[in-house]
Amino acid sequence: MPELDLRPLLMIPGPVEISPEVRAAHDGPPPGHLAPSLIEAYGLALERMRTIWDAPPSAQPFLIAGSGTLAMDMAAANLVEKGSRVLVINTGYFSDRMVEILRRYGAEVTSLGAEPGYAVPLSAVEIALQRESPQAVFVTHVDTSTGVRMPAQEVARLARTHGAMTVVDGVCATGAEALSMASGDVDVYLTGSQKALSLPSGLALLVVSERMLEARRKRSAPPPYYLDYLAWQPIMQAYEERGKAYFATPATNLVQAAPVAMAHILSDEFAGLKGINARTARNKHVAAAFSVAWQHLELSSICAHPEDRGVTMSALKYPARTGPELVNVIRAQGLVVAGGLHPKIKSTYFRVGHMGWMTTQPDLLVKAVRGVGDGLNAAGASVNVDKAVEAFKAYLESVPA
Ligand SMILES: *Cc1c(COP(=O)(O)O)cnc(C)c1O
Repeated sequence: MPELDLRPLLMIPGPVEISPEVRAAHDGPPPGHLAPSLIEAYGLALERMRTIWDAPPSAQPFLIAGSGTLAMDMAAANLVEKGSRVLVINTGYFSDRMVEILRRYGAEVTSLGAEPGYAVPLSAVEIALQRESPQAVFVTHVDTSTGVRMPAQEVARLARTHGAMTVVDGVCATGAEALSMASGDVDVYLTGSQKALSLPSGLALLVVSERMLEARRKRSAPPPYYLDYLAWQPIMQAYEERGKAYFATPATNLVQAAPVAMAHILSDEFAGLKGINARTARNKHVAAAFSVAWQHLELSSICAHPEDRGVTMSALKYPARTGPELVNVIRAQGLVVAGGLHPKIKSTYFRVGHMGWMTTQPDLLVKAVRGVGDGLNAAGASVNVDKAVEAFKAYLESVPA
């Protein structure tokens, strides 16, 4: 893939680099939505979603043209009616978006926040659950504006003991952070194709529990036409049974690529683990290696507590005497990183995405460390890039037992 060397390496928190195999599966003339090869790819993708999401047989996977925001919209639209009480655990930019979406559907939203860079303590979640008795809790697994991770599985378990359902925005996490739907605590786990699944952008992917589908069936008014679980469910069921179906035209090239990206996750092997468990362990190891590199480059995270940092990205403070122009200086070294996103602290930090397929490509990861280090020096810092790269590689190779 020579183009990878000529254009800058894309290391933002999505879209991310994709494998040559995924690219090959995506390229080519568009298949029709009833082509046997498309039906097979769709069925495989839905089956593989069940495995990656660790979903019980009663749950329903949905794979639909759209972005992560469409998946958020769908999760809200099928559940919320005017006056529904919901609790949003607000860790940043995309939690704010969830609040806005829920309010548009008439929900009474309680937003339980923390300062930028901090997770919301489970004790605070518990108090809010007791006080508000919400119908549902919405939580962002890894907030892309700060890199803060919420322990979504534990939040869902708590919510369930209080009779609430849980929707987890996994757009910056699914396929890289551990989460299982098997216990039945999480009712919706949603993502977009361009993040840790390492596909091009353009697909919204959700797995929805039977309990959540029942909540949709009990609604008095249907949700917006394109967003309705009940409109899509027969289509998904038909594809999984390798049958023909049509509701709205799928993104057929993307559907062809989806099972290839998912197979890459499910065939991963790392530290004695296989499949999605190997992949989540690998992402964790790579994130720890980046922490080592950042220390050598004298960069500090905006997440105060290391245990609150998600594995899919790093959010790093601009060092003294640098600022948002650093992103352009780094780009000139052949590396695309992202600026700050959280409205309160936007101009004080930048973000590096490291998730999915690229975590299996040490050369790309090293290039990222070097690009950031060279950028820092070009911006007037004086850091030892070779030493940072050496420490990064050493950590990367020290595969955990
Ligand atoms: C990227 C992202 C979104 C939005 O996804 P789009 O595909 O841009 O619509 C939502 N939530 C989180 C956590 C994200 O990282």
